[in-house]
Amino acid sequence: MATPTITRPRLTINGRGVDGAGTLPVIDPSTGESFIEVPAASAAQLDEAVAAANAAFPSWRDTPLQRRQDAVRDIAEVIRANIDELANLVTLEQGKPLGNARGEIGASLRQVDFFGQSTLEPEIIKDDETGRVEVRRVPIGVVGGITVWNYPILAAMFKIVPALVAGNVVIIKPSPYTPVATLRLGELLQEVLPPGVVQVVSGTDELGPALTGHPGVHKISFTGSVPTGKHVMASSAGTLKRVTLELGGNDAGIVLDDADPAVVGKDLFWAAFSNSGQVCAALKRLYVPESKFDAICDALAAEAATVVVGPGLQEGVNAGPVQNKPQLDRVRELTDDAIAQGGDAFFRGEVPDGPGYWFPTTLIRGVAEGTRLVDEEPFGPVVPILTYRDLDDAVARANNTDYGLGASVWSPDLDRAAAVAERLDAGSVWVNQHPVVTATVPFGGAKQSGIGVEGSIHGLHAYTNIKVLSIRR
Ligand code: NAD
Repeated sequence: MATPTITRPRLTINGRGVDGAGTLPVIDPSTGESFIEVPAASAAQLDEAVAAANAAFPSWRDTPLQRRQDAVRDIAEVIRANIDELANLVTLEQGKPLGNARGEIGASLRQVDFFGQSTLEPEIIKDDETGRVEVRRVPIGVVGGITVWNYPILAAMFKIVPALVAGNVVIIKPSPYTPVATLRLGELLQEVLPPGVVQVVSGTDELGPALTGHPGVHKISFTGSVPTGKHVMASSAGTLKRVTLELGGNDAGIVLDDADPAVVGKDLFWAAFSNSGQVCAALKRLYVPESKFDAICDALAAEAATVVVGPGLQEGVNAGPVQNKPQLDRVRELTDDAIAQGGDAFFRGEVPDGPGYWFPTTLIRGVAEGTRLVDEEPFGPVVPILTYRDLDDAVARANNTDYGLGASVWSPDLDRAAAVAERLDAGSVWVNQHPVVTATVPFGGAKQSGIGVEGSIHGLHAYTNIKVLSIRR
């Protein structure tokens, strides 16, 4: 196993690398031990970053769109040139296999491919002899981007790229569980951006409220859990910040009775278990007709047997640990509870011996609504498989949740599947796939899974205010 040398990253404030007022240990989830200390910014350092952002904003706003897009292409170049280092850091702090870490960083560059060519043309509502009315999209100002630990670089780039293209400046606050690669990204980006345009500050969970409550910040783009999202919204209300909230989900998948288990089994499995189940829009509850139940369970178990859990830097591993101890405890608790309620853990995979936040790939049947594993979001490598007799009942059960991030329907009859998809209450409903999140398509939650979207022109508009120019002739 390669042990890369890493240098301790610093905060990026006003174009410079600075140490924090304190430090924060970061744990490698495959050992359970701290592998590095990163800076923890103080409230005063956050104030400095906010002041620098506000100083940088006017000239960035006034930089022509095409030059801002050139700058995000430069960002992509810097990332490409440093992908080995960044991927190593993502694997060390997040736990995912190195190939998946590279995949995450590669996927983040698609933000640049899309937003690097987007336009923000004014909408002309009226243009006649009496006057002209234009709707313009103007930047909001200083954006605070708060990210989570499952895809640290992807989540940061989801915010940085559209925010900059729209003419804003950004302060990213990564999760205290995974700050390392994001801090390093902040350092690297200073090669191609003016000071204050992208800054990265790490710290404890206390830094989040300091950012959301800060009067010098004008928008918060937050990725994380529903409870924290509510705090973010409440705190942002103090200065009426714009908010985009990308929150949790408990996505249902419904297999229709004409689906072939041999065809859908593999995709269903990875819909739930990609990134060790730590995906906001992973498939988290699977509804299967009684007639297909055994065959689908067998197909899932066959695919589960191909999973090799281990340290992300080890050859041959295709699933990493759970990222942090509280999350591991939660996944254990929900799984143990499901088994205590009569659930049958019909597949449990192998995990390495020794320390590390290991949890076996687990498939559970024989549980229903009313069990926490079904009703709550586990966010780890375990999924319950439920049966249904009546499709209307399956749809009602799938919708009976406060979450509404994603959902899916599985059938070779695409019209029939689309008709069922129509009835599912979620921000995205996929047919024969789950999840698909790209820069070109809006992604966001219905109900308590979020407010607003990332991706597409809609995601770009979320980094703008509408400004009307109305001329009387
Ligand atoms: P979390 O909400 O605890 O933390 C997310 C971020 O919020 C971290 O950076 C954290 O430091 C910060 N934070 C904590 N308290 C804060 C506060 N009071 N004010 C401002 N910021 C604060 O997230 P978690 O529970 O560790 O992450 C898992 C959740 O994230 C799951 O529910 C998952 O579905 C969700 N998620 C959603 C998306 C999406 O795009 N919809 C993507 C990834 C993860």
